[in-house]
Amino acid sequence: MSDPLTAAAPTASSSEPHARRARTPAPQSGFAPWKDPAKAPIVRFENVVKRFGDFVAVKDCTLDIYEREFFALLGPSGCGKTTLLRMLAGFEKPTSGRILVAGEDITNLQPYDRPVNMMFQSYALFPHMTVEQNIGFGLKQEGMPKDQIAVRVEEAMTMLELNRFGKRKPHQLSGGQQQRVALARAIAKKPRIVLLDEPLGALDKRLRQQAQFELMYIQETTGTTFIIVTHDQEEAMTVSSRIAVMDHGEFVQVATPGDIYEAPNSRYVANFIGDVNLFEGKILSQAGGFVEIEWGGGRARFKAVAPAGVSPGQLVWLSLRPEKIRITLDQPADGNNAVEGKVVDIGYLGSISQYHVELSNGEMVKALRANSASTVERPISWEDRVWLEWPADAGVVLTR
Ligand code: ATP
Repeated sequence: MSDPLTAAAPTASSSEPHARRARTPAPQSGFAPWKDPAKAPIVRFENVVKRFGDFVAVKDCTLDIYEREFFALLGPSGCGKTTLLRMLAGFEKPTSGRILVAGEDITNLQPYDRPVNMMFQSYALFPHMTVEQNIGFGLKQEGMPKDQIAVRVEEAMTMLELNRFGKRKPHQLSGGQQQRVALARAIAKKPRIVLLDEPLGALDKRLRQQAQFELMYIQETTGTTFIIVTHDQEEAMTVSSRIAVMDHGEFVQVATPGDIYEAPNSRYVANFIGDVNLFEGKILSQAGGFVEIEWGGGRARFKAVAPAGVSPGQLVWLSLRPEKIRITLDQPADGNNAVEGKVVDIGYLGSISQYHVELSNGEMVKALRANSASTVERPISWEDRVWLEWPADAGVVLTR
């Protein structure tokens, strides 16, 4: 499994004729305007509802997005991500609620009067125009003088390393190059907010990873606010400052990638982001900031950090990431937070292996183990009886 938090910086793709540098943006350390009560959001969705006939695509959504954020709307197909983006762009009107940009109500403004620019999944490039003409199109529509358009187009092409392709038509470009033209067109107008609807959907995995870093570089360099719609959790984890995880037209959790991964607020989010094991159990007791959970109808007891507002007898789920579980052949001396099982599958992932372990009640648990040559234990193999153990603070107790 590739850990979305530690995804390696991609190398330049060999499918590009002149391999370009993969540019890694400098991290915006300490950037967290959402924690600063003095900061006003650049975008505010205020109780926004969108109905299509009887169907409610977006249900009473309220959300603040801050300047210079790279904000991701993440969720499965049909959860309302694109509808939210289209309402911000002005292509759809909310059924009720308001959308504000920099404090101004833009709900009734035409798309071209909004300080936003959208890059579509299909790129929507004009096939009969050259790269230069495509990039300059919006500026020409605005009536910008020719010489100024030329400067802006040149700037955007330089930033996206497209200078060599200025005179080509879209069909003479690779998918990755077309994607960069679409992005260059979106930023050429220097909008305050760039909206990206599945911008990398048409690229293969390798090019997609490179393009993610490019997006981050452009976002940081231009200081623009980017809002991206994606159903790819790794992509959202890689590029964004914060993520809104959506389900059926609602926000389930809005948080940083780290918090979404380490502290999911529900089984839905835990399952949606990365690999997770969920142990269903009942709260037995609570003391000293910890709870004791009875799992598997009394098969084992687990100690975990107590979440807010739980009480004895309550049904909960202990959410444990596979990398937080230690897998061993010997029974741990401390019997707390340990279960026994049988290895039924092993996935070799290079420096680590993923073990699928079947517990006595038939539940399957995934655990990761480093493939270190210096390990003193013999390798763990298929059919081995193993122990899985974890510290009390390794998991998150979920109540929904
Ligand atoms: P995807 O990742 O597949 O693009 P999404 O999360 O972006 O999905 P939306 O495009 O926002 O989803 O659609 C949300 C829901 O609203 C879907 O069930 C969709 O069928 C419905 N919907 C969207 N546009 C319309 C429309 N113009 N008329 C009727 N229903 C619509």
